[in-house]
Amino acid sequence: MKAHDGMYIGGQWRPAAGPDTIAVVNPADEQVIAHVPAGTADDVDAAVRAAREAFPAWAATPPAERAARIAALRDVLVARKDEIAETVTAELGAPLALSRTVHAGVPVLVAGSYAELAASYSFEERIGNSTVLLEPVGVVGAITPWNYPLHQVVAKVAPALAAGCTVVLKPAEDTPLTAQLFAEAIHEAGLPAGVFNLVTGLGPVAGQALAAHEGVDLVSFTGSTAVGRQIGATAGAAVKRVAVELGGKSANVILPSADLAKAVSVGIANVMSNSGQTCSAWTRMLVHRNQYDEALALAAAAVAKYVPGERVGPLVNAKQQKRVRGYIEKGLAEGARLVAGGPEAPHETGYYVSPTVFADVTWDMTIAQEEIFGPVLSILKYEDEEDALRIANGTVYGLAGAVWAADEAEAVAFARRMDTGQVDINGGRFNPLAPFGGYKQSGVGRELGPHGLSEYLQTKSLQF
Ligand code: NAP
Ligand code: MG
Repeated sequence: MKAHDGMYIGGQWRPAAGPDTIAVVNPADEQVIAHVPAGTADDVDAAVRAAREAFPAWAATPPAERAARIAALRDVLVARKDEIAETVTAELGAPLALSRTVHAGVPVLVAGSYAELAASYSFEERIGNSTVLLEPVGVVGAITPWNYPLHQVVAKVAPALAAGCTVVLKPAEDTPLTAQLFAEAIHEAGLPAGVFNLVTGLGPVAGQALAAHEGVDLVSFTGSTAVGRQIGATAGAAVKRVAVELGGKSANVILPSADLAKAVSVGIANVMSNSGQTCSAWTRMLVHRNQYDEALALAAAAVAKYVPGERVGPLVNAKQQKRVRGYIEKGLAEGARLVAGGPEAPHETGYYVSPTVFADVTWDMTIAQEEIFGPVLSILKYEDEEDALRIANGTVYGLAGAVWAADEAEAVAFARRMDTGQVDINGGRFNPLAPFGGYKQSGVGRELGPHGLSEYLQTKSLQF
């Protein structure tokens, strides 16, 4: 696979400060496909300087012109969508069909939405005798995970650029090639030098240096709760803006009046997609006790279609594979019953995990409380609606969820009582403009649409 051996800083590919590199591995066959430089604090410093230098001019660029550049970026992402899909498949392991539709497709929608928002957003408002100016926060340090290698980048960079901020990106060490492709797209789209900068590298080195850099005004992080906590603390100590999008343990609540077969099959598809490596996946399915056995039979039939190596890809790396298999063993040890799958790896080569469904899971088991981040679903039994609500809200997380009922109003009434940032009603469609983010320990801040844009703005009030 093609890779750059430098960093994209100040509008050009420059040699890295140090000699170290990171090997990029294809998780489907465990082969090394490329090497990228492992950035140091010096690379981060050069990138932050470039971003600072570019900031005043970009902040002063009329929103319509910023919009035109973001539209050009979207067009490059469209033109290079096959290359993007192949790169995501090579370094993440996602089946090519998923890489085309989701990994390459969704970023086009999100970039497009910010091209439109930059042009139409009101960066000034009138409140009584005041005019409130909405101004860019400054230099953004973006730290992204590997699960949606391009989407996670675009969901931060597009609103930041729309707002008039400049950016330094530290992508996940497992998926740097997609980030390099994105930097190429930025260049091709004609963004001014320094408006976007890329430093590949390891989290505790390059990521840490970026989060702590005093030239960074806002840190936007997506990833694990442990690292998010640390980044929040670092940013807090420096009185710096911070947004953290963390894990989830979302509930898929199937009310007794729902179309059970549809709710179960969509629920299985939701968890198995991207090998379960989705923070908003509905990893707990809640079924009324009278329908429990029927739901288990439906789930077993539905999950049989998810064959590892065909519809389901591997996990991103050996560490994640080990972690997820460990959770499956833990589920068995705590008394849950397997309906499908299990801890044995389905292939000798590649970081695959068997699509796994557990029955007889109680709300307090480890597999019902912790984010597993693999193709593992827990099916829980509830007695009545109050019990379902207690279970649904009974974790430290609150990122997403689903409710199914015959009557939309019945589902909405339940959704209103859920402590979570988004709920799909009877299998509602993805909306790239709807705010995405968590309640409770799922995070602070929102991404996407106008709410995502406002994260990158600060207010200045002029009184008359
Ligand atoms: P992670 O370590 O939190 O990685 C997220 C990003 O933060 C990566 O770019 C990472 O770099 C960087 N990072 C790591 N340590 C850092 C530090 N001390 N300072 C600054 N940046 C740092 O997540 P992970 O290890 O890849 O995955 C572990 C678990 O996190 C998963 O099993 C899952 O539960 C959760 N997760 C959640 C999401 C989500 O969308 N919310 C996404 C991915 C993972 P490196 O790539 O070098 O580590
Ligand atoms: Mg990590």
